[in-house]
Amino acid sequence: MPDRDVLLQVEHLCKVYESATGDVEAIGDVSFTMDAGELLCVVGPSGCGKTTLLKCLAGLLRPTSGRVEMHGAPVTGPSPAMAVVFQEYGRSLYPWLTVRGNVELPLRHKRLSSAARGKLVADALDAVGLGHAARSHPWQLSGGMQQRVAIARAVAYQPEVLIMDEPFAAVDAQTRADLEDLVRELHTSRNMSIVFVTHDIDESIYLGERVLVLSSSPTWVQEDLTVDLPPGRDQINTRALPRFTQLRTHVYDQIQRAKRGQAVAP
Ligand code: ADP
Repeated sequence: MPDRDVLLQVEHLCKVYESATGDVEAIGDVSFTMDAGELLCVVGPSGCGKTTLLKCLAGLLRPTSGRVEMHGAPVTGPSPAMAVVFQEYGRSLYPWLTVRGNVELPLRHKRLSSAARGKLVADALDAVGLGHAARSHPWQLSGGMQQRVAIARAVAYQPEVLIMDEPFAAVDAQTRADLEDLVRELHTSRNMSIVFVTHDIDESIYLGERVLVLSSSPTWVQEDLTVDLPPGRDQINTRALPRFTQLRTHVYDQIQRAKRGQAVAP
């Protein structure tokens, strides 16, 4: 077996929010490892701590205890090796910049020639199917296209890991299916390492090669599930596979247990 290339290591992560009305223990004790090139989905009941976990992974929030490591080095703040795509694409794009300008903006922090920057932007826009819209402004685009711009911005940045927080929760079902296929395509054709947080069980199984099922808050990893579906996925055939239904039923059952507080810590 080839040596593992461990990308992210999360060890006994705990996060307690302190507030005037009392402490909220959002993450109890979460540990897992992610290899480079994986597409890992994180699913769990609403309010279980998915966003909190993601913010700790991305260095946007300091854990109360425990650690997050990337390639063996502690993550202590936002890292240029990570890009995050949030649900609210509308708020993450600058309306006064063109699509190209939005995708290019974070690259200004990297030491690149303008030709190299232009190439990265053009390549990223092509990858998300928006090569033709480079001169448009975000407000001239549909919600799904705006989210593609946000994804292109992350792709152009060439992060080692792309972290996505319920990125398709605000778009219609057809657009969502197209965007899911875009994420699979980025993963398979570019070998991108992706952490994809969602509350949607079907989405987690359709996209992921591995699904972490989180318990209710204070969170721990209730199950680390391997999705043994063929890597070439498509919306009709994959979702019609008996194995897809089995996996979905299994995760659904786990989440119902989590909600009822019946899950037992390993
Ligand atoms: P999810 O993303 O799974 O819906 P969150 O990570 O947003 O869950 O929240 C987990 C828990 O932490 C919830 O009980 C939520 O109310 C609480 N929480 C989230 N953010 C804060 C905060 N800034 N201050 C206090 N409590 C918070």
